[in-house]
Amino acid sequence: FSKTLLYYIKERERHVSPFKQSVMIIHNLGYPRIGSQRELKKACESYWTGKITLDELQATARNIRLQNWALQQQKGIDWIPCNDFSFYDQVLDTALMVGAVPQRYRTLQEKKIRETDLLFAMARGYQRDGDDITAMEMTKWFDTNYHYIVPEFTAGQTFHFFSRKVTDQFLEAKKENYAAKPVILGPVSFLLLGKEKTAGFNRLSLIDKLLPVYLEVLSQLTKAGAEVVQLDEPCLSLDLDEAALQVFIDTYAQIHAAFPQLHILLASYFECYGKNLPVALALPVQTLHLDLVRCPLQLDDILETAIANTSLHLSLGVVDGRNIWKNDYTRSLQQIQKAVSVLGKDRIAIAPSCSLLHVPCDLDNETALSPEIKNWMAFAKQKLQELKDLRDIVNGNTALLDTNKAAIHNRATSPLIHRKEVKDRVAAFTAADARRNSTFPVRQNIQQQQFGLPLFPTTTIGSFPQTDDIRQLRARLKKGELTTEQYEAAIEKATIEVIRWQEEIGLDVLVHGEFERNDMVEYFGEQLQGFLFTKNGWVQSYGSRCVKPPVIFGDVSRPANMTVRWSSFAQAHTDKLMKGMLTGPVTILQWSFVRDDQPRSTTANQIAWAIRDEVVALEQAGIKVIQIDEPAIREGLPLRKENRAAYLEWAVQAFRISASGVKDETQIHTHMCYSEFNDIIEHIAAMDADVITIETSRSQMELLDAFAGFKYPNEIGPGVYDIHSPRQPSAEEMISLLEKAAVTLPARNLWVNPDCGLKTRKWPETKVALSNMVRAAEVMREKA
Ligand code: GLN
Ligand code: ZN
Repeated sequence: FSKTLLYYIKERERHVSPFKQSVMIIHNLGYPRIGSQRELKKACESYWTGKITLDELQATARNIRLQNWALQQQKGIDWIPCNDFSFYDQVLDTALMVGAVPQRYRTLQEKKIRETDLLFAMARGYQRDGDDITAMEMTKWFDTNYHYIVPEFTAGQTFHFFSRKVTDQFLEAKKENYAAKPVILGPVSFLLLGKEKTAGFNRLSLIDKLLPVYLEVLSQLTKAGAEVVQLDEPCLSLDLDEAALQVFIDTYAQIHAAFPQLHILLASYFECYGKNLPVALALPVQTLHLDLVRCPLQLDDILETAIANTSLHLSLGVVDGRNIWKNDYTRSLQQIQKAVSVLGKDRIAIAPSCSLLHVPCDLDNETALSPEIKNWMAFAKQKLQELKDLRDIVNGNTALLDTNKAAIHNRATSPLIHRKEVKDRVAAFTAADARRNSTFPVRQNIQQQQFGLPLFPTTTIGSFPQTDDIRQLRARLKKGELTTEQYEAAIEKATIEVIRWQEEIGLDVLVHGEFERNDMVEYFGEQLQGFLFTKNGWVQSYGSRCVKPPVIFGDVSRPANMTVRWSSFAQAHTDKLMKGMLTGPVTILQWSFVRDDQPRSTTANQIAWAIRDEVVALEQAGIKVIQIDEPAIREGLPLRKENRAAYLEWAVQAFRISASGVKDETQIHTHMCYSEFNDIIEHIAAMDADVITIETSRSQMELLDAFAGFKYPNEIGPGVYDIHSPRQPSAEEMISLLEKAAVTLPARNLWVNPDCGLKTRKWPETKVALSNMVRAAEVMREKA
């Protein structure tokens, strides 16, 4: 293995890079494509509903590209990316580039629908003119909240250069006089990110068929005049086996052999190269990109190898592409200068750590932020300026450094951020703070006696349909068309109605419906200190869907009760148990832009203490069942196995801090969705919630196997129907799922509930589904 590596290192050295640099290059890995006013979102959605034509959509897209290029040019970016634009997702674009269109879309191709329509059909499904074709699967892009379309591969899979978007966009840029750098998802990661759809083959074996298409693409690009091409291989940040690494070696050797003069920039991000580093360093590419935000220490490792004697260039990802904080120039300059001292300026490029896709477009649009805090922040446009500043400072402009130092110092010491009482409290933690008074069996007896619930108690996950009427209430309150009193009266009415209805159908543990909440994180962030909200800080989540994450900028504290008003209002309107509803610390952390001036675990603990106080306040207000939602625990799992234990330890501890302030009598629930539990079941058990409700119906209860295999001791509510679809489940199908569950787990521990909250559903299907669910529980009780 290492012999082959040596061979390729030597092979690379025989070809001197044609790219003559005498200065430090600044470049960008990708720019947000939604537009600073979400123009692309609006145009796509208008196109889907037939309000604009494809030409109009294309014109909006072209404008965004031209604006992005002009902006990057203006900021002095040397290698301006192209092909980073996408109507939906860059992985889907790659599938189209290589003609990996699943069989089920062939009828559309035969009908000669336009390429953009085909792309949308693959992303969103196609129901029209008698065709009913499902969409491709979507999943999270590494540890981000961006979702990509999962390529589908079959055993007989062939590829051909199909979508010309990459060459078209290069030529479009060229016509505007930009010598752009095409950005393409590399062939190995493209295969690794996909899924085998037929049995009995390994998708990596398709590389021999796929590579010729990539070579064809590169050939077209070089003919068109491309000098630098960025191949993204983010899978190099994952744990890879030797076979996969060998595919990397062979693939890049072949690319190099075909295009010895082409400057290939290989980019991986979100993690260290880690064990893949020797291979990454040996690949015959001209420039290797390093994410120095996620992995600053790898720079030393790399500079200590023999790379000084090679011709490899390094792209230093010093500006954080995943967060919204101003770059600390002093720290970046240390990294740059360290690299320059070993390799020389002409072998260093600087860049964001990853594509800027993951940050909002332009801080200038935030006119309502406090000027002090705004001065600590940078969005995509500002990050381009940071790259330019860093180069200017390297070239002697020290005034820029002084301004930056002042901002960084201000942030480090600002009383807006630092609250001694919060830090003291977190520091005073002792193990007892994360432990309930008694063990679960003791608590379970007390709770079962006190509550007198039947076997298979029924409940829901929290939210009831957020109808247009409810959303309008909030919009009108914001606009000042409703007074707070009028708004609250309307929410009270909706809450009482949902309580009555739950009583009528016979649910055991009720919820208040969450009508007063806009979003499960925003609602809490708005009431906690240390959070701020932007007006326009949108980030693409998938397709046209964008999210606006809260920003956690300071020590988190809870100045007042957050949910007690609504939970006690609801409890006062029923004799049944009313479940209090909170979002857990890890989920709040995970779905926000977080501080980079302290470990994530510290921020999680601060939030945990705030939530704990709310839990205790609910208990004091007479709420006996309290749910702390943690749907995002799983998605926070680090990309590399070696980092997972440490994460799970602090994440579980944060949850336990939030849950452990109450008496044994108080029943703590937690809820998780979109999760697999196999590899983390012991940590789920360590959370020690009295009841956990999970999403299981789509897997036909298979997800329960992890709990059964582990002999999960606490109570558990496996979701008995899928809330993502308007389909109305019958009592019979829920009974059969419950029977499955009762085989694997003790009946005494089982709850009956849907997979998740019902906020995206409509009332008619909700009523049928929940009534059937209650009936299913009754049948189970009779059988028991
Ligand atoms: N309590 C929340 C709800 O019902 C939970 C949402 C979630 O798990 N994503 O809406
Ligand atoms: Zn859920």
